Amino acid sequence: MSVSEKNITSKVDKQNLKVSLRTRLLVAISLLGSLGRKDFRAAGVYAEMRFGNYAFWGKWTRFVRWTFSQMFVVIPSVTLDLIIPRKVSKTPMWLMDRNPLENFPWNQESNAALPKETDTVVIGAGFTGAALAYHWSRRAPSERNMVVIELGDPASGSSGRNEGLVVMGRYFKMVQDSVFKALITLQPDLTSAQQFSLSKQFAHVYCRAAYRNASLIEETIREEDFNCDYVRAGWVQGQDDLNQKALTDSVKLAKETGFTDWVSITPEEVLERTGMHVEHNAGCSLGAASWHPAKWVWCLLTASLAKKNVRLFTRTEVLGVKNLGKNYQISTNRGSLLAKHVVYATESYSPRLCKQLHNVILPMQQQAASGDGGPKTMKPHVGISASWFFAGRYGHKVLFGSGGGRVSDNEAGRNEPSRFITKFVAAEMKKHFGSYHLEMRNEWSGTVGYTLDEYPIVGSIDNKGLFIIAGMAGSGSGVSFNGGRCIVNRILGKTDEPDDYPPSYFAPSRLMNPTHHKWPKPGKQEFGHTENV
Ligand SMILES: Cc1cc2nc3c(=O)[nH]c(=O)nc-3n(C[C@H](O)[C@H](O)[C@H](O)COP(=O)(O)OP(=O)(O)OC[C@H]3O[C@@H](n4cnc5c(N)ncnc54)[C@H](O)[C@@H]3O)c2cc1C
Repeated sequence: MSVSEKNITSKVDKQNLKVSLRTRLLVAISLLGSLGRKDFRAAGVYAEMRFGNYAFWGKWTRFVRWTFSQMFVVIPSVTLDLIIPRKVSKTPMWLMDRNPLENFPWNQESNAALPKETDTVVIGAGFTGAALAYHWSRRAPSERNMVVIELGDPASGSSGRNEGLVVMGRYFKMVQDSVFKALITLQPDLTSAQQFSLSKQFAHVYCRAAYRNASLIEETIREEDFNCDYVRAGWVQGQDDLNQKALTDSVKLAKETGFTDWVSITPEEVLERTGMHVEHNAGCSLGAASWHPAKWVWCLLTASLAKKNVRLFTRTEVLGVKNLGKNYQISTNRGSLLAKHVVYATESYSPRLCKQLHNVILPMQQQAASGDGGPKTMKPHVGISASWFFAGRYGHKVLFGSGGGRVSDNEAGRNEPSRFITKFVAAEMKKHFGSYHLEMRNEWSGTVGYTLDEYPIVGSIDNKGLFIIAGMAGSGSGVSFNGGRCIVNRILGKTDEPDDYPPSYFAPSRLMNPTHHKWPKPGKQEFGHTENV
């Protein structure tokens, strides 16, 4: 346990004294009785994240000690704060609102049928599929048609199950570090200095695209007058004492490279921006915003469908895509159609649909819960996270949650939150905000797509007409809109706008076939500069 955690915990301990021994025992027994497979899996992941740098026995003894302290001390301390009724909905908070595109087009046109042929098929209607549809409706000539096919309803995947932050992507050092680590496997023949230089280039290209993505989102919401509750109030990320040097280094690098969205703020500033108590400086993404993520998807699709060259078919499952040479055959449970181009906008579901993507896109679970009330001091609209939780206030509701571990390809999209993790997160929130009263109404999970280098893939899978945008590592709002624009421009053969996803960096071959991938040269200066936020 770090020094800051000990300090904060000692404050909580005082509050814990108020909890009787009987309550603690009852909570621990009920927790033990309710633990299921999903909780044990979550626990395994947590042990790895928290104690992964210890050897086997060290890791597990620490983990068992930690679990007991959670069950007998920490979690009982939130029994008065977190009220869990007998019935909690598994529908994400965002999807409680009316979906204007529910069961589309069948609810308006019961005899509608998929066309036999189209120019482009997009599979999936979340952030990515909706972005592709929107850019198509703005850029494609009227005779070129796009069909969007969605398994559930629009935003029923991760896009309707997330925390509600519009991120500026990952900060420079975070991207650089994850790429550098992976280059040891992906580009083993390079020297360490070359790998380092290349990872810096990757970070630069990623951030440039992400900054433009954020600007494009804001412009679009303003110009289209979208009602998706967009507020730009930043994202504060608490860091413990062990991470202070890494924070200083990351901010220094942000300054040097001109990606100055990422800054360090003092505990006083953290309190002022978020209402959260921390003991050390925190990282802050100044340009991050919050929104209603499902409304963003619905707004994009509604605007696209107003043009006749985009069609949407919900509650339709794509079963497979076959390359027929001249075009692709897309088989669905409602029949098949032919298309010249296909785009997988299926993020964590991609390997379930396309077996070639197994171990390329890694589905990982994340979960959240929400309810009325919550910490009174928590400021609205700002993104908040600390070492082990994220949270945000939206109107009279507070949402809180946490990351998780890898699930199998077939489990992509599963909705199986762990109650143990929910309670753990609730206790972490109390550490930083003090006592609160929150009546939990919704608790859910979703899956996000990671890659080995935590760098997205945006480009063609077969160097022809089959494209993918995925592997956004839990930051889909930071990639999908600009990524969708660039893929649409490529399909349409338009070169009048900048393409921020050069194949040498983003093509799927980087991970699917690294030996034959055309890598950028280490040391090459790519860049002009970046847009300010
Ligand atoms: C708890 C949680 C918190 C998160 N917080 C944030 C955050 O604050 N900010 C952020 O940027 N990101 C966040 N993320 C990640 C973010 O939600 C994703 O990166 C983003 O939604 C990905 O969008 P997408 O459209 O690519 O994928 P999805 O939204 O998952 O959409 C894929 C769609 O494809 C459909 N589909 C799959 N298979 C088929 C098939 N065979 N046929 C037809 N359709 C199919 C699915 O039904 C789904 O609707 C979070 C995720 C979770 C789970």
